[in-house]
Amino acid sequence: MAPAQSARQGRQARKPVLNARKLKRKRNEEQLASLGQRVEELDPKAQLESFSELPLSEPTANGLAASHYKTMTDIQARAIPFALKGADILGAAKTGSGKTLAFLIPVLENLYRKQWTEYDGLGALIISPTRELAIQIFEVLRKIGRYHTFSAGLVIGGKSLKEEQERLARMNILVCTPGRMLQHLDQTAELDVYNLQMLVLDEADRIMDMGFQQTVDAIIEHLPKERQTLLFSATQTKRVSDLARLSLQDPEYVAVHESAETSTPTTLQQHYVVTPLPEKLNTLWSFIRSNLKAKTLVFLSSGKQVRYVYESFRHLQPGVPLLHLHGRQKQGGRLDITTRFSRAKYAVLFATDVAARGLDFPAVDWVIQLDCPEDADTYIHRVGRTARYERNGRAVLFLDPTEEEAMLKRLAQKKVPIERINVKAKKKQSIKDQLQNMCFKDPELKYLGQKAFISYVKSIYLQKDKEVFKLKELPLEEFAASLGLPGAPRIKFIKGEDSKAQKNQPRALQKLLNEEESGEENGEKKAKKNGEVRTKYDRMFERRNQDVLADHYSKLINDDGTAIATGQANGDTQDADADDEFLSVKRRYEAGDEGLDDGLSEASSVRKDVKVVHIDGKEPLVIDSKRREKLLKSKKKLLKYKSKGTKLIYDEEGNPHQVYELEDEEKFKAQGDAKEQRAKFLEAEAEKTRLADITDKEIARQKRREKKEKRKARERALREQQAGPTAVLAPYEEEDEGDVEGDVDMASVSEHDEEYEENEEEETRPAKRQRMSSEDDASSEEEEEEEKEKEKESKKRPAKRSKRTHKEGPAPGEPVEVNTLEDLEALATGLLE
Ligand code: ADP
Ligand code: MG
Repeated sequence: MAPAQSARQGRQARKPVLNARKLKRKRNEEQLASLGQRVEELDPKAQLESFSELPLSEPTANGLAASHYKTMTDIQARAIPFALKGADILGAAKTGSGKTLAFLIPVLENLYRKQWTEYDGLGALIISPTRELAIQIFEVLRKIGRYHTFSAGLVIGGKSLKEEQERLARMNILVCTPGRMLQHLDQTAELDVYNLQMLVLDEADRIMDMGFQQTVDAIIEHLPKERQTLLFSATQTKRVSDLARLSLQDPEYVAVHESAETSTPTTLQQHYVVTPLPEKLNTLWSFIRSNLKAKTLVFLSSGKQVRYVYESFRHLQPGVPLLHLHGRQKQGGRLDITTRFSRAKYAVLFATDVAARGLDFPAVDWVIQLDCPEDADTYIHRVGRTARYERNGRAVLFLDPTEEEAMLKRLAQKKVPIERINVKAKKKQSIKDQLQNMCFKDPELKYLGQKAFISYVKSIYLQKDKEVFKLKELPLEEFAASLGLPGAPRIKFIKGEDSKAQKNQPRALQKLLNEEESGEENGEKKAKKNGEVRTKYDRMFERRNQDVLADHYSKLINDDGTAIATGQANGDTQDADADDEFLSVKRRYEAGDEGLDDGLSEASSVRKDVKVVHIDGKEPLVIDSKRREKLLKSKKKLLKYKSKGTKLIYDEEGNPHQVYELEDEEKFKAQGDAKEQRAKFLEAEAEKTRLADITDKEIARQKRREKKEKRKARERALREQQAGPTAVLAPYEEEDEGDVEGDVDMASVSEHDEEYEENEEEETRPAKRQRMSSEDDASSEEEEEEEKEKEKESKKRPAKRSKRTHKEGPAPGEPVEVNTLEDLEALATGLLE
């Protein structure tokens, strides 16, 4: 009896609380309805100026105010109203003009108005071309979304897939890079995207271009077609084929600077200097030396150049902190570098185009393009790292005389105002001797220099715009010397798998390459002898520095990590480099490779240190390096080299048969005309396949359903377990009330409720997570149960969430600092608060 009595007392005491909660809930619903109404009535063409004029929810409005955003930028004022009303958008506006908020605000708002909860699965997916940009978008989302209760995650790789998988199941908003996202869509069963409402592509033209094409198409295949799609970039794609790929529906083209005189920010001063390739490093060095009190971003065309210039300049100690960023660095390191550059007052960051797009480093003074960008769009994005949001900035493009004319033409076509400046001869210093000295003393540096040289030549060779990039006319030998190298590493152009790119080259270039291949560059005599190409390395190797170089040449590796092999050494017509390396240097062999894996037949050891292995039926595999040797030990990697297996069918006696075995010819003929038989056979097989397909699909559907049900059951069990006996009893106690909310485990939460009513801002109490539902009282039992579960769940959630509250957290506008990848990961698991 006693418990029943106390329960009754408790109920009486809780009555006012219940009423207050009911009231609050009603108020919320009214607010939501009126917000929906305001959005509907909003004229998307009205020229609004401040965020407060937009029909925004309280959490978003508060988030913006706390982040000190008041006046909208042009793109925000023009795009947000359309996006709030659910339109697909193609947004184009200059760099640094606030495109991020133009898509993040609609993402938050549109999900909020739909009362999105974790049970609804993924609501919005934001794709960025680089990890750094994804992190930045995520940070802005956290900043302005801090008062929302959505869960948001970052999917950029750098951690094991499994760890990420566990977190993704309940995310509402994900910011991702394409590759990693696809991996999850393919492999993470818990990730529900069938309900996706919004897809955003930041730097859309980059994401839609060749580099990401396959991945992005595969991602899109996973997503529902009925959704809102927002595309933003400073250099927007309007290609119909691209838009079709995304199934955009009557997209609203919002281009705010279309009629502007320039395509770059007006606060940006742009210049170019003509500096011959071999003079570049001297010019850059002199520039850095005379701008020590500045924050400078230097773009180069490959990671190897970035490394060499960074390492060599570091040795020379210019008197300003140097940093470097390229795609091959570890994720933790990359994050550390971007954070350091963001915070630095004076620093020089050498970077590849990973930093070209979207990154919002505060207060960059100079953007230097040491290597000419591949096209005018890349130019626009690179210089866009400075002069952001009404700030000033300066940019300098280094051009070799051979690039000048055509590049200036390209820039003019894209409305880029740029003026020539000259380098002051008096201020110019030469570092060539110092670099040579350093390379002589430090083989590591020299090795980096050689790699830098090769990758530069390779990048020029692969450039599409042959009017700008004319490899033939570049003084490569002098360039090598300027890098401190004793001579230009000779590069052999091989017809590898990349021959498609080669096919598209103009004839003249092909001829040139063939000439180079035969060793005619720089007037040297042809080195071809008996079909064997002697490389520059070979010659240098014979000449000098043998003890120092031997080690390094033995270590030369291709970009893909495989060792560079020699070709034709054994008269084998198959090039040993057939990997997929288009350009590569030749190298000497190291001695001694023993032991081959079993299961493979060893054909002949052609040279003492090279082995050729035949794997069932395919072309011979040349084993000439430790890496390749290792390959033999991995069955998975070897699959690539094996031919496909054949399917066998076993009869009742256990004898194997081919799937289609030839039958007796006589018998076959007896059955009628071969053509007819063929047609019949095809028809029968097609029918079989069709039926099998139907069954497969049904099974797959069934499995999905089961999985979902199991998950739900598991979750329910878990909640019930955690809720304890009170929660289980509650519905019986409250039978007479018929009040859904009253059913929830009140005994354990009533105190919180009171506290909550008094102080609505108390963050340890989560905001409500019900779906918007006007027919609440009439809702079915099942729905009620779901509601209850959500309520219960939401009451437990605070413990699981990020610990930060208003009181202990940093001041508004300054969310928690993120220093490491771990910090970010932790935040990604947490909710936006
Ligand atoms: P974009 O994507 O167009 O290159 P971002 O979205 O990165 O530009 O914004 C550039 C800078 O402008 C950021 O530092 C951002 O905080 C700032 N910014 C954006 N919108 C506003 C605004 N309405 N008021 C003040 N600053 C803004
Ligand atoms: Mg941007």
